[in-house]
Amino acid sequence: MSKNESLLKRRAAAVARGVSQIHPIVAERAENATVWDVDGREYIDFAGGIAVLNTGHLHPKVVAAVQEQLTKLSHTCFQVLAYEPYIELCEEIAKRVPGDFAKKTLLVTSGSEAVENAVKIARAATGRAGVIAFTGAYHGRTMMTLSLTGKVVPYSAGMGLMPGGVFRALAPCELHGVSEDDSIASIERIFKNDAQPQDIAAIIIEPVQGEGGFYVNSKAFMLRLRALCDQHGILLIADEVQTGAGRTGTFFATEQLGVVPDLTTFAKSVGGGFPISGVCGKAEIMDSIAPGGLGGTYAGSPIACAAALAVLKVFDEENLLARSQEVGERLKAGLREIAAKHKVIGDVRGLGSMVAIELFEGGDESKPAAELVGKIVARAREKGLILLSCGTYYNVIRFLMPVTIPDAQLDKGIAIVAECFDELA
Ligand code: PMP
Repeated sequence: MSKNESLLKRRAAAVARGVSQIHPIVAERAENATVWDVDGREYIDFAGGIAVLNTGHLHPKVVAAVQEQLTKLSHTCFQVLAYEPYIELCEEIAKRVPGDFAKKTLLVTSGSEAVENAVKIARAATGRAGVIAFTGAYHGRTMMTLSLTGKVVPYSAGMGLMPGGVFRALAPCELHGVSEDDSIASIERIFKNDAQPQDIAAIIIEPVQGEGGFYVNSKAFMLRLRALCDQHGILLIADEVQTGAGRTGTFFATEQLGVVPDLTTFAKSVGGGFPISGVCGKAEIMDSIAPGGLGGTYAGSPIACAAALAVLKVFDEENLLARSQEVGERLKAGLREIAAKHKVIGDVRGLGSMVAIELFEGGDESKPAAELVGKIVARAREKGLILLSCGTYYNVIRFLMPVTIPDAQLDKGIAIVAECFDELA
């Protein structure tokens, strides 16, 4: 039995079944866009730990910053004794979040926790309890975020009803027959049928819907949402957990979508592989919760703050926003070439390097090709490439490689994708 097989056997016996696993691989070490498993097999990583490794595995400057922090302190709990990296990270994030006004920031640990806190802040700031979220949205796996997440199976199935006060609007998606007008009308319908706007604290949206299928919201739609929020005193929350940290070619996606959200959540690639997340927004909104109402034992850990500060520096020093655009263009060009040969690929889309292809049987947009996506992901793995799928219909392959990936390795990965389509489609 290989080391992989034996560890996976132990995993099955020891780890709760609900923690699923996409690839039957046990990783041992990694460097930039390459991962090695416990049997020494090498893989190109086009998954980046689900959008966490925009700066690659173990970026040397991130590692150095963490090592340096480890010589000072690893924990005090920020609510007991403050430390500079937390303060500096809040300052740096506020500079990058859109909005020409005073901002304040809260640091926590996971994306879900950031979203939970954004909702708490919106409720406190408005004195309202309702939240509008979209079909196909993903906002996390904690109880409140499961209410916001617009996909029941597998995330909340079997767990009973999630917390109330969440109303579901239609996410605009022309490819699947939902226009932007339909989406706005669905919000108006909520106001008519379910809850008056005066009871809605916030509308939460992913600027590019992530887990739901990498659908890019238009500037026009985001502006309509902003106007609707302003009309009714509703806060606009941009969940930038997956889109943030340069994935879309700007540090936050809203920068290029023309809207200034009231609150922005961030996590994942901001920490470069270390657990950190947060909420940033208008100072007076962020301050609507009284002292003691926000925080957490490990929230904004000094180690993760040091890593995040290094990530921000690496973005500047290595010009990674431009690189993100470049990777996206190169990737889309390669994928369009594959799509020209295989009509099963019905769409190549993305913003910056947040890129995906969507598969339909015979190119028929009413027939999502989920099975083929599964086969391609498995075949790519056999050929040494780690891919990720997503989408409400499980028929999307998304690409989340480090933007620091060398061109040659990016091209090699795209060539493997092409081979998989040639063999299977
Ligand atoms: N929001 C979005 C947009 C996400 O993509 C995710 C994770 N996929 C989350 C929230 C939850 O983040 P976490 O898994 O760190 O709790």
